[in-house]
Amino acid sequence: MNVFVLNAGSSSLKYRLYRMEDQLVLAEGGTERIGLDGRIKYTNHRGFSVKTDCPLPDHEAAFNEIIKYLTTGESKVIDSPAEINAIGHRVVHGGVRLVYPTEVTMDVIEEIERNRDFAPLHSMAQAGVMRLCLKMFPASTFEAVVFDTGFHQTMPPEAYLFGLPYHYFKDYGIRRYGFHGISHNYVSERAAKLLGRDIHDLKMITCHLGNGSSICAVDGGRSIDCSMGFGPVDGIVMGTRTGQVDPTALIYIAKKDHMTIDEISDMISKQSGVLGISGISSDDRDIENAMEHGNEQAALARRVQSYQIRKYIGSYAFAMGDLDALVFTAGLGENSASLRAASVEKMEHYGIKIDPEKNEKMIRGKEGEISAPDSAVRVLVIPTNEELKIAMDTVALMHR
Ligand code: ADP
Repeated sequence: MNVFVLNAGSSSLKYRLYRMEDQLVLAEGGTERIGLDGRIKYTNHRGFSVKTDCPLPDHEAAFNEIIKYLTTGESKVIDSPAEINAIGHRVVHGGVRLVYPTEVTMDVIEEIERNRDFAPLHSMAQAGVMRLCLKMFPASTFEAVVFDTGFHQTMPPEAYLFGLPYHYFKDYGIRRYGFHGISHNYVSERAAKLLGRDIHDLKMITCHLGNGSSICAVDGGRSIDCSMGFGPVDGIVMGTRTGQVDPTALIYIAKKDHMTIDEISDMISKQSGVLGISGISSDDRDIENAMEHGNEQAALARRVQSYQIRKYIGSYAFAMGDLDALVFTAGLGENSASLRAASVEKMEHYGIKIDPEKNEKMIRGKEGEISAPDSAVRVLVIPTNEELKIAMDTVALMHR
């Protein structure tokens, strides 16, 4: 069975085609700069690879270009779109009502469009690609949608409510939603497998550390808290996003610099975080490099980042009353041994102890344990695979 996973952004469309029997990635890549000059990246399992500019006026053009690569010429991996048995769509925000992986219908698409204010950059593009697929593929092609917010809908009210007047929650749905749910779900299930334990018996903290980062408390396989909140800016300091910030500071800055709401919004999501503090870059590789050359601001940004991660780990362990496993994932979580080490500093007393040698060796897509033999908490590095999780959820829903 072939499952096509689609992840649309406002000006991009990423894709991966799986042969599910052996989870082989037949082809994968992305289209970028849709509506501007257009660019496509395509790789197939036989080693064919291309990265080229091509006009992509809209998502439909991008989709057709991807299908062309999949079905024709040297790049071909299937004879026709009819060989795609199922499609799994990723949607960032499901709002309050769309939680579990769901079959795509016009009602579901319209609900995603009604929720567009929650994720304005993504929702309309994602709904648009779903409309397109419903139109292009026969009814026999099963289509599912998986929501990034879905996994966190098990959070209790004490975790998801802000201290705002209650009517904002009732009237506008203002609450903590949490993000990267597909990733937290995937790595927590994978961790239980690696540990040979029933996930229902485990208390875990999963740290998704990438350009965007979030930390999640997973109790018995269910998310009970997440550092990202109403939007994807809350929580820990990220590449260019602030993380948690006192709202009165933003009000003060807006008044002082006569900034509009849009300017503040741009500043907290694009000019802040590691980039804002270091003044160097949002990319961790640049930060590590600068630190090696003695750059104090880079070291400061790293200290803020790791300190905040430690605080979340501590608070979530206390919120759950215990901790069995700590998992690191995503670009930084999988690759930066120094950030992982700094994130668990001074935690030996609480039973979290990593083995420095194992930690150093765990890079580039490797999966395994980095805790010391006498660590009460098992510490794992697990490469995230959101596309595979979407494909697996799609197949599971199809067979239900
Ligand atoms: P996104 O949130 O955009 O999906 P990623 O999960 O790809 O982000 O993570 C991007 C971050 O991971 C960047 O800060 C990047 O520097 C970092 N990263 C990627 N590869 C490495 C590496 N080999 N060593 C250290 N950091 C890395």
